[in-house]
Order: sequence, then C-alpha cells, then structure tokens
Amino acid sequence: MTPRKTVKDYIRTIADFPHEGIMFRDVTTLFADPRGFRMCVDQMLHPYAGTRIDKVVGLEARGFILGGAIAHQLGTGFVPVRKKGKLPGSVISQGYQLEYGEAIVEVHDDAIQKGETVLIVDDLLATGGTAEAGIGLMQRLGADIVGCAFIIDLPELGGRRKIEALGMDVHVLCE
Ligand code: 5GP
Repeated sequence: MTPRKTVKDYIRTIADFPHEGIMFRDVTTLFADPRGFRMCVDQMLHPYAGTRIDKVVGLEARGFILGGAIAHQLGTGFVPVRKKGKLPGSVISQGYQLEYGEAIVEVHDDAIQKGETVLIVDDLLATGGTAEAGIGLMQRLGADIVGCAFIIDLPELGGRRKIEALGMDVHVLCE
C-alpha cells in the first residue's frame, strides 16, 4: 500500500524565483489538487474546532484562496488584507519592512467590529513581517485574534518566533 500523501507532498519548490538564489515554495500544485486542497483547509482549521470565529482574515494574495475556502467551511465572513491602493473604501494602513525597502497593507476600516473574533490566514510564514502587519491592522480595529494559520513555516527566517512573541497562537502544517 502506498503511504497517504501529506500536504507537504503537494507543494513544489521552484529554484531561482522570483530572484536567483530563492527557493520558492509553490502552493498552486496543492491548491490544484482536490484532495490536497481539502486536506489543507481541514488541517488549517483543525485546532480551532469549537472556537468562536466571526471572520476569517486573508493576507494577499494566496491567503485569499485559503481564507475564502476556510470561511465557507466555517460559515463565517471573509476580510481581505490587501496591498496599498487596492481597496475601494476607507482604509487603515500599516507599513512593514521588506528585505529591500518597505511595503504597506490595508484593510477597510469597517471590515471588523470591535470585539469580533478573527482567524488570520496566509500560505507561508517567512520573516513574519506580512503577518505582523496584518495583526497590527486587526488590533487597531479592536479584533480579538484567535490564531494565525499558515501552510508553511520557514523556521530559519524566524517568523514564527516573531509572531508568537506578539502573544499569538501560530498554527502551521509543515516546515
Ligand atoms: P514574510 O512577510 O513572512 O517575510 O513573507 C511571507 C509573505 O511572502 C507571504 O504573504 C507569502 O505569500 C510570501 N512568500 C514569501 N516567500 C514565499 C514562498 O517561497 N512561497 C510562497 N508561496 N509565498 C512566499
């Protein structure tokens, strides 16, 4: 009998993307497989069974794919955290450091009501800068963050430590 495939088995690595020397973890192969995608969504949700979640918050862009599927499964709403200039309504913004320079993410200022419980999701945790910015936005809106769930953590980049140091529950499916 062949062993059951894990989420990690559906992820491929592409060398030198987007720059030379970067090993890009490509989750499109996981999303494209019906069993892989379902397994991924189920496992991301697993620790939160029985926890009240009012909204799922997805970080651009692969967090939208995951977040939509997770929100549908939970029967909750979905809130996108987008790169600067993409959201049409009134927003709050948060900057964060990239390897070279700075980026800004935004969320609609009425997307979350004070005290609502949210689960933040994205595909991959590297330095943790993107997730930290998303957490900052949620905290400023008065959200109660129940956890941050990712498919992949790159432990050598320290993102998990950074997010846990903010007092967050971090759930990852593979390293
Ligand atoms: P961080 O802010 O933690 O350094 O980087 C995480 C963000 O960059 C996530 O939004 C993630 O989608 C993206 N990212 C960085 N490297 C990779 C990678 O190798 N594969 C994928 N799928 N996303 C990546």
